Amino acid sequence: MEGENTAFPNLPKTLLGLSELAGNLWWSWHPEARMLFKMLDRQAWKDSGHNPVKMLKDIPKEIVQGSATDAGYLQQYDDVLARFRKEREEKSCLLTEASCDQNTYAVAYFCAEYGLHHSIPFYAGGLGFLASDFIKECSDLKVPLVAVGFMYSEGYFRQRIREDGWQEGIDEMLDLDSASITRVMGNDGKQVVVKVPLVDPPIYVAVWQITVGHVPLYLMDTAIEINSPWNRGISAHLYTGDIEQRLRQEVVLGLGGQEVLRTLGIKYFLLHLNEGHPAFALLERIREKVDQGVSYEEAIQQVQTTSVFTTHTPVPAGHDVFPFHLMEKYFSSYWPALTLDHDSFLQLGIHPEEPHAGFNMTAFAMKMSNYRNAVSNRHGVVARRMWQSLWPELKEESIPIDHVTNGVHIPTWIEPKLALLFNKYLGSRWLAEHDNPALWKLVDMIPDEELWKTHYWLKIKLIDAIRERTRQRWVNDRTSPTLVVTGGTLLDPSLLTIGFARRFATYKRADLVFYDSDRLKKLLNDRWRPIQFIFAGKAHPADDPGKRILQRIFKIACDQQMGGRIAFVEDYGEQFAQYMVHGVDVWLNNPLPPLEASGTSGMKAAINGVLNLSITDGWWAEGFNGKNGWAFGQEGTQDRSDQADAAELYEILEQEIIPLYYTMLTEGIPYGWVKMMKESIKSVGSRFSARRMVREYMEKFYMPSLNKQKL
Ligand SMILES: *Cc1c(COP(=O)(O)O)cnc(C)c1O
Repeated sequence: MEGENTAFPNLPKTLLGLSELAGNLWWSWHPEARMLFKMLDRQAWKDSGHNPVKMLKDIPKEIVQGSATDAGYLQQYDDVLARFRKEREEKSCLLTEASCDQNTYAVAYFCAEYGLHHSIPFYAGGLGFLASDFIKECSDLKVPLVAVGFMYSEGYFRQRIREDGWQEGIDEMLDLDSASITRVMGNDGKQVVVKVPLVDPPIYVAVWQITVGHVPLYLMDTAIEINSPWNRGISAHLYTGDIEQRLRQEVVLGLGGQEVLRTLGIKYFLLHLNEGHPAFALLERIREKVDQGVSYEEAIQQVQTTSVFTTHTPVPAGHDVFPFHLMEKYFSSYWPALTLDHDSFLQLGIHPEEPHAGFNMTAFAMKMSNYRNAVSNRHGVVARRMWQSLWPELKEESIPIDHVTNGVHIPTWIEPKLALLFNKYLGSRWLAEHDNPALWKLVDMIPDEELWKTHYWLKIKLIDAIRERTRQRWVNDRTSPTLVVTGGTLLDPSLLTIGFARRFATYKRADLVFYDSDRLKKLLNDRWRPIQFIFAGKAHPADDPGKRILQRIFKIACDQQMGGRIAFVEDYGEQFAQYMVHGVDVWLNNPLPPLEASGTSGMKAAINGVLNLSITDGWWAEGFNGKNGWAFGQEGTQDRSDQADAAELYEILEQEIIPLYYTMLTEGIPYGWVKMMKESIKSVGSRFSARRMVREYMEKFYMPSLNKQKL
């Protein structure tokens, strides 16, 4: 308690529990906990960027004092804290009894990024959100899981758009004393520092922790004194473009991550690798067994039967392949430790289709894990084709790569006002039982007027947020008038509003809708039924083609002929994503098939009644049912081209979407639209939830593997 007192000197004794709450990200997906902070002082909550640690640090004594003597507040405080503590104390022995013990977990989960909250920006995009939705759900379901990743001291980057539309990245050191993250302290009273095994010259990592409900997430940080400057930079940013530094990141993530668990005395029975970046963790597991006297062959087998590997991308450039000379540089003392020679070691990472390309992290992970999966049904088909050469004796359909379709963490992504509506019409247990499909049928009980009113309010909230951001930039940074216009100040909440927000990777074709700009202009500038677009997203700092697409869209937004109906909102992140997936009318997605493995933002939109207009790729190939949104570019379509896809997109807009939305003009409420909103919520709510996803991982992989281990 002493420590917390010094961190938040203004917090009175009666409210010390707030520091306990702030220290566990549990608050981020429990609105009643967030409300406790907000009720202290709305303005301070807003000023902190909805970050309780920062808020409690900065808030003046007088203000907290008011709440500390308010009976209503104290009642709520007691309720929330009691619930939090009760949940925290429940022991988790699910999957294996061994995990009732402290420091013993069924699963260790490794990922290079986590998108937990905007105050902890250790993510670039979908992979990170998937990973954090996964661990939040594991917390809710009490799956005994420990997670490992990176503490990126400078986060990803803050995006600024220059007046000519070129993306610039601003690096910022994070203020770690103002976030829900803590140093892991050793018995000597100092932060735990571990040495990455068998790497020379040595690399050291300091260990941090984020507590995500029940799940401890350990994060590694190389920005410490003892490291050389080059080593310090390893964990500065996500996915550095420099290939050697990238290899060093993955060495730290895999080998260092295992060493962290070992040092902390943490045991686990199953390793789950989320994407190929942490695959070197498999090597450490093998080495550990060989060290203990197990033969190399036996060690491999033990590791294979206890490892799960999830692949996330059909884009070839999305798979790391490291040149052999770099592998030699970093692993020359490693292969003897495995009792291997140079050739047989490098052979582990060979992709038979390109044996000279280097050490392929995905191929390696595929070979070393007996449980492998893609992230949607369609991606399963693509992945089996893509990795067929690893099993030359098998037919494509028997390639042992299964799929578990992604899902989103419902408590994180459902808008709180909408959640209240669900409480009212689906019953107060709806959230607790949200993977029961029958329950979602009750969405039909929500009166159309009420659902529409809530949606419309959320659209206003989104546009207000955009205008306020833009106003701040205008006032504080003296941006140009052009940026004020393109930033979204001309948006009108009564218009049909289409959102496109995601990473600006080229395969996502953010500019497809501008393929025939004359045809689009007619829609934007229609006198009675105009439409508007909101774009947001970052291109990877090394991705110039992605930046050029962004620039193109920005320039179009500046063009008066577009009627001021195109906005580009800077610096897409978790917070703005929340506004977007809650508030637009239509969620547009038009990647080049089959390159979207799953996509998850469309699921976030769908559960909030935002209708998907998407290419049939990734999850939408499963999610679309003819009534819950619109699909184009169906499989079997001849001559796939941007031209054909764009034509189909315009057609749907002109013939279906615009007329349906603007029945509002005559009827007041667009009843047909609201019907589709309900269908969207019903059809996606349980099926594409992280709960369904985690349960599927348990059934398909965790339980079978643990059962074989006879735990
Ligand atoms: C959900 C999410 C993503 C992933 O979106 P995709 O559908 O995979 O493109 C990316 N960024 C943010 C901020 C998100 O919330």
